[in-house]
Amino acid sequence: MNINCEMARDLLPMFKDKCLSPSSDKALREHLKTCPACRRYLHEYRARQKDDILEPAGDFSEIARRMRNHRTVTELAVGLSIAALVTYGVLKTIKRENV
Ligand SMILES: [Zn+2]
Repeated sequence: MNINCEMARDLLPMFKDKCLSPSSDKALREHLKTCPACRRYLHEYRARQKDDILEPAGDFSEIARRMRNHRTVTELAVGLSIAALVTYGVLKTIKRENV
């Protein structure tokens, strides 16, 4: 089975984790033998993975802050929608009473 560079790069994460089926593993190995660009990509991918593992877990306060902001925006949108519906209902009622 011949695969192109895009397919090869899609398979690399599973290749690295040794999760590929034997036929996909073989196809990727054959591609890597003939494609220096993908070999370099695999090398860089592995280096990046090591960096990610070595990175500290990080500060979750930024994520928590973003989630709070997102919730505030959602609550504002829901509030405005309800206000719009109430206004629409009131105006419709007033209009009906004036007819
Ligand atoms: Zn390639």
